[in-house]
Amino acid sequence: MSSATKTASSKAPFFIDTHCHLDAAEFDADRDAVYAAAVAGRVTTLVIPAVSRDSFAAVAAAAERYPGCLPAWGLHPMLIKQHRPQHLADLRVQIEAQRPVALGEIGLDLFVRDLDYATQETFYVEQLKIAQEYDLPVLLHCRRANDEILKHLRKIRVRGGIAHAFNGSPQQADEFIKLGFKLGFGGAFTWPRANKLRRLAVDLPLDAIVLETDSPDIPPVWIGHGRNAPGELPRIAATLAELRGMDLDAVAQATTHNARALLGLG
Ligand code: ZN
Repeated sequence: MSSATKTASSKAPFFIDTHCHLDAAEFDADRDAVYAAAVAGRVTTLVIPAVSRDSFAAVAAAAERYPGCLPAWGLHPMLIKQHRPQHLADLRVQIEAQRPVALGEIGLDLFVRDLDYATQETFYVEQLKIAQEYDLPVLLHCRRANDEILKHLRKIRVRGGIAHAFNGSPQQADEFIKLGFKLGFGGAFTWPRANKLRRLAVDLPLDAIVLETDSPDIPPVWIGHGRNAPGELPRIAATLAELRGMDLDAVAQATTHNARALLGLG
């Protein structure tokens, strides 16, 4: 049975896209259709992380318009030049105005060269403190910065979260898991050459994994370099099921359960 047939059956499982930038400008022309395609594929819950103070309004609008779209508020490390100390105060105001499912997207990026590290670190640490204060899980951007991210997580204990687009070592994965984190897997491991990541996707305990698309970014192999969309999540899940030699339903149920527990969705 194909994954498409399975996801259309009445007993088919539901999926949670734990990281989807549905508010991004890339979806301005056809956002309703992108959302409808996700729901048709049983992707019924989408977490939409903000990336800057200026993005709060667009994320709030998407969460208001589309049932099952849940906001997270945060200041993204790649937009570090936009952030101002005042935005941390604005972040608190936003949390008070509309309780998010998580604080994010926050973190550190050591891949892009011209992002001032000290400033990134300041915003990351201050936002971890806010997550701790409001008892929120965090959605972490950790590109090439897993050890630096973990160092601060050991000092400022939060109620877990997701290492989004995880691409570290098995040891780093274990460290995240020990701190109560799940590892986010999406389009990257669907590429046949991503050997290390595919190995991890197979070897990690299933209860440590949540699924995500990071739409419109990180397209899976069948999209190539095109725009990613939350409707691709079932096929990403099917790829994981195939790699692990498991039934798609079992992968869907487990990853959905993991996400629900982490995000406090009952
Ligand atoms: Zn993101």
